[in-house]
Parts: sequence; C-alpha cells; structure tokens
Amino acid sequence: MTIHTPMSKRITTLTGGGSDGWDVFIKARKLIAAGTPVTELTIGEHDIRTAAPILQDMHRAAMGGHTGYAMVPGIDALRDTVAKRTQERTGVPTTRDNVLITPGGQSALFAAHAATCDPGDTALYLDPYYATYPGTLRGVSAIPHAIKTRAEDAFQPRASDIDAAARATQNAKSLLINSPNNPTGTVYSQATMEGIAEVCQSHGLWLISDEVYDTQVWEGTHLSPRALPDMAGRTLVVGSMSKSHAMTGSRCGWLIGPAEIIDHLITFATHTTYGVPGFIQDASVFALNQGTAFEAEIAAPFERRRALARDVLAQQNAVGLIPAQGAMYLMLDIRATGMSGNDFANALLDTHHIAVMPGESFGEAAAGHIRVAMTIEDAAFETALKTLCDFAETLT
Ligand code: PMP
Repeated sequence: MTIHTPMSKRITTLTGGGSDGWDVFIKARKLIAAGTPVTELTIGEHDIRTAAPILQDMHRAAMGGHTGYAMVPGIDALRDTVAKRTQERTGVPTTRDNVLITPGGQSALFAAHAATCDPGDTALYLDPYYATYPGTLRGVSAIPHAIKTRAEDAFQPRASDIDAAARATQNAKSLLINSPNNPTGTVYSQATMEGIAEVCQSHGLWLISDEVYDTQVWEGTHLSPRALPDMAGRTLVVGSMSKSHAMTGSRCGWLIGPAEIIDHLITFATHTTYGVPGFIQDASVFALNQGTAFEAEIAAPFERRRALARDVLAQQNAVGLIPAQGAMYLMLDIRATGMSGNDFANALLDTHHIAVMPGESFGEAAAGHIRVAMTIEDAAFETALKTLCDFAETLT
C-alpha cells in the first residue's frame, strides 16, 4: 500500500538506521520455524513460566471482576507494596506517592525520559547497553549520547568519562544507568555509584537507574543510587516484575521518584498507557508478598549456570569470560578468534545451530564480544558452551 503523507522522523528513525541488532535472533527464529533445532541463547527470558500460584491469583482477581479500567497510577495495594519493598531494601523513605505502576520496565524507561528530556536535549547512556535504550531515547525526541565503558575495567563506568561527555554535549538532561547490567553482568561498585552521583550533581542531571535485575546478584551487593546522599530528589528508579518473578509477559513494572515528577507522570500515563490491567496488578501484589525466598528461587538457575560456565571456560583459552556479577547473561570475549562478534555469532549459528547475541548489538564497547543468555537447562547449557569454546578454538 502506498503511503501518501510522510511519517514522522521520530518513528522512521527510531533505530538510528542500519541494523537494530536483532539480525541473528531473527535468523535463528527463521531456522526454528523451518524445523531446524536451534539452541537459543539470545533472549533474556527465563526457561520457566510464571509460577502457578501467581496465575491462580491472577485468575481469581479476573473472575472477581478486576477486569475494568484500573486506577491509572496503579492500584493502591501495589503502589504501597512496591513503596514498602523499596524502603526496606534501600532505607529511603518511600510512599505510594513516589510510585507509578507502568506496563513493564520498558514503559517506565520511556516515561522517565519523557519526563526529563525535551526534544533536542541530550540523554546520556552507557555503552554496552540494553539494545532498546537508544530507540527509547529517540522515541521522546532526545538525542542519545553513548558513553563507552571498557572491557579492561570489566565494564565498570568511569565517572571521568561521564563527566567528559556531560561537558562535551552541554545540554545533557539525564544519565541512564543499569546495574546489574544487561548485557555485561557487571554490578556497579559503591565507588562507581558515588562517582556517578557526583557527576549528576555537578552537571544537574537526572539519574535514571534501571534496576530490573536487582534480585539477580551473584557477587558484590546491589546499591540503588537513590539511596546516596542528595540523590533521591534527582533519581528515577525503573523496576519490573519481569525478571524477579518470571512475569515477562504480564507487563508490570514501575517508576520510583520524587512525588512532584510522579504526579506529572500520572498525567502522562493518562494520555499514553491508561494504566496496567487490575488482575495483573493484583497478581503482582500476591507475587511480591511471596518475599525474598521466592525471588531467590527464580534467580537460582542463573547463579548455578554461571558457576557451570566458569568451569567450562577455565579449561580453554580461546574465549575470555567477563566476570558476570549479576543478571542472566555472560559476556564472552572472542577477540582471540580475530572475528567480530557479529561474524562469530553468524558462523556459530550457521555451523552449530547455536544462537547468541553479537556484542555489537549492544554498542561499540562490546565489539568482539558475544552475549550468552543463561536461559536453557543446565546440561544443554553446558554442552552449548563447550561447543562454542571448541568452535572458537578452531578459529584461533
Ligand atoms: N531494562 C533492561 C536492562 C532489560 O534487560 C529489560 C528487558 N530485557 C527491560 C529493562 C525491560 O523489561 P520489562 O519491560 O519486561 O520490564
């Protein structure tokens, strides 16, 4: 069908031109659809489904009539539960007025940038990054500006690099960070967070802290930068039920911040999402009330597979392991093969039917790396990693 009137630049340039980084993933999906078995290590989703008791509660809520429009900011019970959980874990006083319930963390990321950046403002973010970040920033007509972290620092950001970027761009309004990090598995140290907080204060930046992996920490401790001195007034925290409770498809997340900005964001939600289904929110309250033991149970397979991976990787030299401290991914350094992450991922899929994400999908700083999602059962995961390492060995 011919389109006669041009579409907006916002929508047509969302991915910034070229590939959006999902080529290998799409190629793998096509192979699977054509009947070729593929070991799928691309996407960040658990190999288990949402637990039955949560689904039963969702069913109970829906049958009980919670199927109409729900309160736009989120139902009181969920806002209160999220506020209490946040206050308990961070020590920062938090009430329902600081919480907006959103359709997933993705929507919270969009809302956070809509609330902090006007069109043409620079939105800073760190490379490697979760693949949707630059598109989300373009979606609010901000100018995305990536700041590279370095493999030799195990991808811990340097405050001096962020400071230099804020100086160079001049009109930066926000800095987006993500710890535990997708794709690197890096958990930012206290020193890193303090450095970031200092830069935000000296340049008057909003800090948008994506903490959707906060229950998946294998080494070190998760520190929410909102808890640092003078940061609660300039930090927006993105949270989600997706990773912590294996509820990716339920699309339930939140944004936490100062009441004044949340108030405006409730108006924004009225004009964009109109909230999250009530039965999903009820089930989220139920899920959060299962407590930390349940969250640990959901996270446990990734910690186990990370240990398996360390054993496999210790027995060879072709592939380097960035020490993943959290989240459900491994970042592997395949530069010894002389290949780009893209070429390696394509070759691995073609020859061994193992699908991984090229590092380049997550930014320039991850070139020559691949991201492996630890999202298949242990034995198959171990076998796939061994095959991957053997393949890399033949190339070195
Ligand atoms: N942030 C990061 C770093 C992610 O990896 C994801 C999902 N992969 C999200 C946010 C969004 O998750 P959701 O919208 O399901 O909460």
